[in-house]
Amino acid sequence: MNVAITMFFALGCAPTYEPVPANQQSEPTQVTVEDALVQFSLVAALAAGDYSGGPSLREVLANGDFGIGTFSRLDGEMIVLDGTIYQALADGTLRTADLNDTAPFAAVTFFAEDGHFDLADEKFATLTALDERIDELLPHRNFPYAVRLEGDFAAITLRSVPAQSPPFQPLVDVVAHQVTWQHQNVRGVLVGLRCPAWVGKLNVLGYHWHFLSDDRTLGGHVLACELRSAELLYDECTSLVIRLPQSREFEEFDASEIDDQDIDKIERQRASGARP
Ligand SMILES: [Zn+2]
Repeated sequence: MNVAITMFFALGCAPTYEPVPANQQSEPTQVTVEDALVQFSLVAALAAGDYSGGPSLREVLANGDFGIGTFSRLDGEMIVLDGTIYQALADGTLRTADLNDTAPFAAVTFFAEDGHFDLADEKFATLTALDERIDELLPHRNFPYAVRLEGDFAAITLRSVPAQSPPFQPLVDVVAHQVTWQHQNVRGVLVGLRCPAWVGKLNVLGYHWHFLSDDRTLGGHVLACELRSAELLYDECTSLVIRLPQSREFEEFDASEIDDQDIDKIERQRASGARP
């Protein structure tokens, strides 16, 4: 019941997209970047092995308090929540990141709730089932969303990757050696983005979830989960801002060498392809 009421509220606020006659249009305005998803580099450049440089983590936080990414030399999974950057390392530990480090890839926004759904009475046996349910709930298909899901997990499978040394290998090869863990009975937050079908090689198509436990001891990129109950908050982003790297690696990056299947394999190599 709660879900239905909340959904009605969200849909009731949806814009109608009717064309506005020219004589009723407002004054021209300069493009603003309010409500933006701010992205540093392209996921395809990361996939190609561009793991160095990028903005400082201070600069990441200057552009958002919520999001995901990775660190210099691919040293762990980045979780940005409530203005703090957490680093989930390949040894299974979680720490607050050193703000002097850099982010070769990150996507953040200032999370401003546009709506929420109470999923307290819904259970999800798989991450795919959760993704499909959220697809039903989010109001629009062609906007990026930041999604914050606070949940009670019966089980969750996380991964991280160890720091790399030059010459950097493509991410699909690094992920083949990812470290995974499964945890039972843990409460925490899924920090996620959902990017629409037009995103191409810019970011990850569909959902990209990172996890942070409530006690701040566990974190990582989510490969699978079983969810008992949750509260979901979302922020619809009406702009996408991409800051391109000024680096030799980016100059040498050839987008034609990265195909969408590689990106999908990197981000969605869920439990079936992971080491136990
Ligand atoms: Zn990730």
